[in-house]
Amino acid sequence: MSVEDDVEVRAVQPYEATKRYLCPGCNGDINAGEGHLVVVPTAHPEDRRHWHKPCWQHRHRRRPG
Ligand SMILES: [Zn+2]
Repeated sequence: MSVEDDVEVRAVQPYEATKRYLCPGCNGDINAGEGHLVVVPTAHPEDRRHWHKPCWQHRHRRRPG
């Protein structure tokens, strides 16, 4: 029932990564040639973001409290 997860996640292969991106999970660079994920909100495809795979997988990890 989570609207938050209404996104399309696509894997970007290393050969497809021709630019450097900023990962919103860690504010670090995703270098050209590095496999990663592109996350496209279904309702707002223009707001797509490029993430490191582990950053996306851990995005919901929260500290207790
Ligand atoms: Zn990251």
